[in-house]
Amino acid sequence: MSEEDRRADYVTKCLGEYQTMGYENTKNKTFAELEQMALEAGLRLAVKLLETRLEGDPRGDPEGSYPCPGCGKPFRIQERAQVREIQTVVGKVGYNRPYAVCDRCQKTSVPLDEVLGIPPTGSSVGYLQKTCHASVVGRSFEDASQVLLVQAEISVSPKHVRTLAENEGSRIIQQRGEAVKAFQNGVPTKFSGKPPELIVVTADGGRVQTRHKTKTERWKEDKIGAVYDAVPAPQPNAPRGEYEGAHALTKTYVATMDDWEKMGWSLRLEAECRGYLAAREKLFVSDGARVIRELRAYHFPEATFILDWPHAVEHLTACANAAHGEGSAAARRWFEKHTDLLWDGKVDRIINDLQTLSEQAGPPSEGDSDRSPRRVLHRNAFSYFPNNRDGMKYPEFRAKGWPIGSGVAEGAVKQFALRVKGSEKFWNIDGANEILALCALYHSEDGRWLDYWQQRGRPHSASTPP
Ligand SMILES: [Zn+2]
Repeated sequence: MSEEDRRADYVTKCLGEYQTMGYENTKNKTFAELEQMALEAGLRLAVKLLETRLEGDPRGDPEGSYPCPGCGKPFRIQERAQVREIQTVVGKVGYNRPYAVCDRCQKTSVPLDEVLGIPPTGSSVGYLQKTCHASVVGRSFEDASQVLLVQAEISVSPKHVRTLAENEGSRIIQQRGEAVKAFQNGVPTKFSGKPPELIVVTADGGRVQTRHKTKTERWKEDKIGAVYDAVPAPQPNAPRGEYEGAHALTKTYVATMDDWEKMGWSLRLEAECRGYLAAREKLFVSDGARVIRELRAYHFPEATFILDWPHAVEHLTACANAAHGEGSAAARRWFEKHTDLLWDGKVDRIINDLQTLSEQAGPPSEGDSDRSPRRVLHRNAFSYFPNNRDGMKYPEFRAKGWPIGSGVAEGAVKQFALRVKGSEKFWNIDGANEILALCALYHSEDGRWLDYWQQRGRPHSASTPP
């Protein structure tokens, strides 16, 4: 068909749709019904438009000559017009394309798909993007399936949404894995932006319910790391409760079911890509948990450690209750006094007081539960406060205008939990990992979600079959 004929054909189709919508055929319809009819007609025309465009593309001409990227010799056209039907955002689009092989290099090629950036198998990139978006913003794959139907006229089962989202997540994880491997092998990271004044790294863990048969093994930890650049906002004399801290600018995330050790590498790479090395000040904020403390010591030794203020205060509450009885006036007084001391950075006095209290209470004995007063006091006096002492220089942090909370990581844990947590959600570890990778990509504020899809739709080249 010539270009002219194709145009005439398309115009005929348009007129046909116009006819269907004409008054005579639709006089009993409401506007709402007409609206839906118009939408559906638009989709049919869009399919036709794409098919017409593909049909007229000279790069799908079976008479064309296509050089093999391996040897430079022309491909042998094995099938002149292989039929493909691809799921797109406007519906199923059918087209013919030559299928080529290089007998020398064992490569196969579909020149038309490659030059247009149509994935070798499966749906169009636009379709995948919409499906993955719905999978991340919905609370479940059932939600996603509904959203796609209602908002985008895309009919896809929850099960298939899951398959598509998990495949894409797996692809993201693989790319990330390769980047981490290169980084571990010493390939330097690139950062070309303006060096940030402050770069803040923070991490926290959440909980995901798995399909594990044993009840005690069912809940597993998901790990979320966040990196953000920030502008310091000094408030040296801010009273307790009125300090705002640095203004976070752009937040980006890594999220995984892998262990903290692997997470550490991923987070360090993320930080370097965000300008960690060039930053004027490097901070690491966390809640003082041992695993994250070890991660920091190994991967972020240059960063100043800041202990999340609300967590430190929570520990003081537990100590006050352990020493003076839950909810008592004495507990309240002790808490207020020591929280003021903490705000003023007098950590030695707190540790001293705690050690005295712990000694008075006596050492924990074997039968004591984790929350028994003796154990709480002992743990805080001899481990939590001494181990996290470096991170409690709050007056200094306020004077510099640094953040004193790990709210960004905790906020992300909560946000991601909307997707992965819930009594009705049971994951296998890989599936949770894949959806977390999608969540991290989507919620990162530096535009990487759109970059990813743009990259996904780029032209590709001939492949070597497995
Ligand atoms: Zn070749």
